[in-house]
Amino acid sequence: MKHLQKEYQAFQEEMGFDRYNKDSYQENKTFLLYIHMLLTTEVAEVAEEFRTLFIESEKRICAGMDEVEALEIGKDKVQENLGKELADCFAYICKLANYFDYDLENELYKKFAEIKERQPARQNT
Ligand SMILES: [Mg+2]
Repeated sequence: MKHLQKEYQAFQEEMGFDRYNKDSYQENKTFLLYIHMLLTTEVAEVAEEFRTLFIESEKRICAGMDEVEALEIGKDKVQENLGKELADCFAYICKLANYFDYDLENELYKKFAEIKERQPARQNT
């Protein structure tokens, strides 16, 4: 994932994004608040895709279709757009991780360990 974070940073530089005075408290603050706003907007767009998925599924369930079959059709309807919205979310998370010099892969493994320590694994039944 470190490689992906570096590629994302290179893409940002190539596109001329994130040009702000890094020595300015106000410009750093504006940058972080702006990226947070964009991230939460993208999270809302994921919710919009779920809304479409459920509308498409429930329309068919109400017409008598099997629920699982209707869900699969709903998933197909949002397949392309949902992927784009998840990528948008990931891009802004990468941006924040790069800003704070986090290695997201390392952070994710630390989170796995923290969760395992906090609660035992559920047994398959
Ligand atoms: Mg989007």
